[in-house]
Amino acid sequence: MRRAVYPGSFDPVTYGHLDIIRRAASIFDEVVIGVLRNSQKTPLFSVEERVKILKEVTTDIPNVVVRSFEGLSVNFVRDCDAQVIIRGLRAMTDFENELHMAQTNKVLMPEIDTMFLVTSLNYAYLSSTTVRELASFKSDVSAFAPPAVVKALNEKFSL
Ligand code: ADP
Repeated sequence: MRRAVYPGSFDPVTYGHLDIIRRAASIFDEVVIGVLRNSQKTPLFSVEERVKILKEVTTDIPNVVVRSFEGLSVNFVRDCDAQVIIRGLRAMTDFENELHMAQTNKVLMPEIDTMFLVTSLNYAYLSSTTVRELASFKSDVSAFAPPAVVKALNEKFSL
């Protein structure tokens, strides 16, 4: 079985992430979305909320599994018995960090490869940070994220 892990914060998941998830699911037998529990950052949504939302927005993709993890991505990838890490590339600004991360991970675990999917042009500008910021100013974010996210953001910022 060809299994890939798509790790990230997904705070919250956007249409840009979903585009990468769908495309990865069409390439691999199974895609595990790894939701990072990062004790050094204070997320808007708890890891449990992010997992719940991701499960909801991927119910129509049968070969997608959502799990949370802590610590190094490569350890999680090995635990999942996966061979590939998926990352999305939006612009050159993503590239340098992503390259360093992929190279470091290759040294840590040579049997795991990183595969970059270039974001679709219509989502290239999108980030979770922008979505959070817009929602905090009570702006409509339905062009950027699925209805489950819009609902959760509305509840967070009690529109
Ligand atoms: P992280 O904190 O790990 O960067 P994110 O949730 O911000 O977590 O992003 C997870 C992955 O999704 C990263 O590879 C990122 O480049 C990618 N990504 C984020 N937004 C988009 C988008 N709009 N289109 C495609 N890929 C994206």
